[in-house]
Amino acid sequence: MSELVRARVEDHLVRLRMGHVAQRIDAMLSEAARGEPTYLDFLDGLLREEVDSKQRKRVQMGLTIAHFPQARTLEDFDFRFQPSVDQRLVKELSTGRFIALSDNVLIFGPPGVGKTHLAIALGRAVVEAGHTVLFTSATAMIAGLSKAETEGKLGEQLTFLAKPKLLIVDELGYLPFERRSAHLFFQLVARRYERGSILITTNQSVSQWGTVFGDDVLAAAILDRLLHHSHTLTIQGESYRLRQKKRAGLLGREAKAQETEA
Ligand code: ADP
Ligand code: MG
Repeated sequence: MSELVRARVEDHLVRLRMGHVAQRIDAMLSEAARGEPTYLDFLDGLLREEVDSKQRKRVQMGLTIAHFPQARTLEDFDFRFQPSVDQRLVKELSTGRFIALSDNVLIFGPPGVGKTHLAIALGRAVVEAGHTVLFTSATAMIAGLSKAETEGKLGEQLTFLAKPKLLIVDELGYLPFERRSAHLFFQLVARRYERGSILITTNQSVSQWGTVFGDDVLAAAILDRLLHHSHTLTIQGESYRLRQKKRAGLLGREAKAQETEA
């Protein structure tokens, strides 16, 4: 008889999509027989395991969909090395609250100071907070939009890029845009404006964006929308990559001298 009940419990758990508990039920029952928790504690533990398992799976799926180029977390960002980073703002952003307001985030700074690291780490935190994220580089995004336009599918591609709650565009400004590309970028920003957050990392200060987009008026229109509801992180400091190389003694005296002059 108890075998029958045991089978029915498993069947119900599967039907209720509590797959984790369905698999663990025998172990959980043995543990309960040993520990003799109260009915409430047993139920609490059982439900928590299922919820935790679902959350882990959801985060895993969200990270896959986000297409982060590397795994980076806020825990492994050394804030002491980069004191110019507003740690309180990073912490606030990591709650994902800015997503509900469709606020944008701009991360400025020279190469190697941790812009991409912070972008990925924040993106990950936003996934953990339950939102969809897509990571792309400015170059890859423009190439995608350009290809779609040539194939007469620009609308579809813009819709695709408008869907995630947070779109991360890495490395804006490393290569200047052609006119057509700049216009595609504008369309993307206009499409997401006040509807979904964009996080941009760039090595160019706002005053250089006219040059990046090859057009002051277009750059102003883009900046106007991006900055309207936005948070800015400016990183000033030494490249983390160079520091590591210097420590490992890989840089010659000449490079070291240049660094000190700079
Ligand atoms: P950027 O995008 O500004 O050029 P990255 O984020 O790619 O720089 O950083 C270069 C490398 O150094 C990455 O591997 C990154 O994880 C690491 N890094 C940069 N800054 C830090 C930091 N403050 N703490 C830990 N790792 C860092
Ligand atoms: Mg980078």
